[in-house]
Amino acid sequence: MAMRDRRHRNRLPPADEPTLLAPPEDRFRRVPVLLPYPFAGPFDYRVPRELDPQPGDIVLVPLNRREEVGVVWDGPADRCVGDNRLKPLAAILDAPPMRADLRRLVDWIASYTLAPPGDVLAMALRVNALRPDSPPLGWALAQAPPAAVRLTEARARVLAVLADGHPRGTAALAEAGGASAAIIRAMGNAGLLMPAALPSLPPFGRPDPEHPGPVLARDQEEAAAALREATAARAFSVTLLDGVTGSGKTEVYMEAIAECLRQNRQALVLLPEIALSSQWLERFEARFGVGPAIWHSDLASRTRRLTWRAVAAGEAWVVVGARSALFLPFPDLGLVVIDEEHETAFKQEDGVVYHARDMAVVRARLCGALAILSSATPSLETVANVEAGRYRHLRLPARHGGATLPEIGLIDLRDAAPERGHFLAPPLVEAIRANLESGEQSMLFLNRRGYAPLTLCRACGHRMACPNCTAWLVEHRIRRQLQCHHCGRAEPIPPACPQCRAEHSLTPIGPGVERITEEARALFPEARLLVMASDTLPGPDSAAEAARSISAREVDLIIGTQIVAKGWHFPHLTLVGVVDADLGLAGGDLRAAERTVQLLHQVAGRAGRAEAPGRVLLQTFSPEHPVMQALLHGSLADFMAREADQRRPGNWPPYGRLAALIVSADTAEAADILARDLGRAAPHGEGLVVLGPAPAPLALLRGRHRRRLLLKTRREIAVQPLLRAWLDRVKVRGSARVDVDVDPVSFL
Ligand code: ADP
Ligand code: ZN
Repeated sequence: MAMRDRRHRNRLPPADEPTLLAPPEDRFRRVPVLLPYPFAGPFDYRVPRELDPQPGDIVLVPLNRREEVGVVWDGPADRCVGDNRLKPLAAILDAPPMRADLRRLVDWIASYTLAPPGDVLAMALRVNALRPDSPPLGWALAQAPPAAVRLTEARARVLAVLADGHPRGTAALAEAGGASAAIIRAMGNAGLLMPAALPSLPPFGRPDPEHPGPVLARDQEEAAAALREATAARAFSVTLLDGVTGSGKTEVYMEAIAECLRQNRQALVLLPEIALSSQWLERFEARFGVGPAIWHSDLASRTRRLTWRAVAAGEAWVVVGARSALFLPFPDLGLVVIDEEHETAFKQEDGVVYHARDMAVVRARLCGALAILSSATPSLETVANVEAGRYRHLRLPARHGGATLPEIGLIDLRDAAPERGHFLAPPLVEAIRANLESGEQSMLFLNRRGYAPLTLCRACGHRMACPNCTAWLVEHRIRRQLQCHHCGRAEPIPPACPQCRAEHSLTPIGPGVERITEEARALFPEARLLVMASDTLPGPDSAAEAARSISAREVDLIIGTQIVAKGWHFPHLTLVGVVDADLGLAGGDLRAAERTVQLLHQVAGRAGRAEAPGRVLLQTFSPEHPVMQALLHGSLADFMAREADQRRPGNWPPYGRLAALIVSADTAEAADILARDLGRAAPHGEGLVVLGPAPAPLALLRGRHRRRLLLKTRREIAVQPLLRAWLDRVKVRGSARVDVDVDPVSFL
């Protein structure tokens, strides 16, 4: 990519050197430039006479002896730096300017989350997509390889991969050959490989809205018509598409995408787990004839760059992606779909802490687009917005094609206890056995990876804990490891108790999916098992392969973590057993009950999606709990109404606002001091309360000591000005820091 006017840069005197020739103030302009770093705001730069930067222009500017890419921002220059110390803008890049709606989104998110605007900008500015294009180079087999080179196994594998004559990039070749990038480069140096041009990626095809799709049932067609109309209005609005699992929500919102294409506008679909979306991609292609553009953080850098540019050029019409797709440079976005809007995966917890569902609605408003929130179990936040008249509500009350919702049963573990050391109660075992005998598929759900969540010494009672986190180590028997699921620490299972030195005394307590798999294998030796957990299905390909083998009936019993709850359509699955329905209720989180209902309802929704009716059995110690009763009677709306009644009086969200301050430091004392200072400086007033400071449930995380404070206000009080003033009153010293989480979802 050429850089306009770059050559002018060297003609100007370096602005940080005082010079007698510095022009008087009215002789040059200043512009604010926002840089993708955590500064408090944009910096002023001086505009060389030859340039005429406008807000949104992507520019190169000097910063600490380097040149950085930034964006000319809006508003007046701040004049913090005197004229004679002002540095000049180096160049305007020949790249599509960042449009006003995206700049407003960056400002909006920064101001809502209290994140530095540059950190938000960094999510929207793909610097690697802006730099000049290097021709894409990969590797091919050398035409005249040296004769006397020793071939290690890894090198031989790499050569074998290239034997088909197709050049590959370094990363792709390393992965396919099971070698490191360093090995590939060394092979290049040794003359075994030679550089070769890579074929360019095919352009994104234009999805065809008139490509024949399924014939919609009457209630589906009514909902689709309403969505088409809202899309054609080319104005901001929000619709909740609320339909039971298997009712055809996806097919219905595809019709809004079709209308968006007819309007010549771009569409964005956010999915909570893009890696688990092979079935969604197939359906998109079936509906529109070509696949969508895909966006997530694991894209190869070249694909990422091409996709980013295609979006900016309006050549990628439909993008499906993870939450980061929200920051793509769509020139004319007409529709944003947030599928499974209740999913907590939409909340980003690291870096800029934001909720992609809520920010998607903001982006839709800034673009004059329709936002569709789709779910069988809408969040209370969204339900409250419907009730307040802010969101339109469309319902799909029945499963498509006469499929019925599964019948739910509770297994009271107090009456029907599993055998000692086992976790599947006799009625569940019987039901699976019967299902296997009739040749149907079953699924066991337990939202816990590994073999056992706790390892205990039978001799002294010592529990194996993570030294860096307030957490037990989880046994992963297949890998013979104890792992911390918070910091990733892994250690071999010790032969003796580290406390009392007793040998063979460490005992696993409680089940994870590995242990359930072991139990199932012993009970049903003839069944073909498939484990679906994030560590057994590491990538999109393995998840797609799992989905294929289930659909092809190569699997009898699926055992999985929350991965299995995600939108899958397995037509032959007729029985779902939930090993521990009470699991999510512990912990006293504000939304524990709501989330448990959502998760279990989604899991249950995998059963009986085609002709054969489905059945779901929930193992619980508290069958009378409102969550179990709501699932048993399918009375989700009543349950949500009850939740609402419980949250309303105390101004709990969504009827009030919450913001969390998370203090962390290297030592407990430093954390306590800062937490105490924050407590003393806490805001006071009518309609607000500050809870804490208190040790966080994860009082130690990755070696940092953590304390929490929570600000709760009435809904009409904005928390941001309170938080800003509060943080300004307190000094943060040394290793300590405060992180702000507006609208917290996690309370750990
Ligand atoms: P939801 O998103 O509400 O869970 P889906 O859109 O996944 O429901 O639909 C469930 C299944 O029914 C899918 O396999 C889908 O292709 C199929 N389906 C839904 N509506 C129709 C229709 N009108 N014609 C044919 N198949 C349909
Ligand atoms: Zn840890």
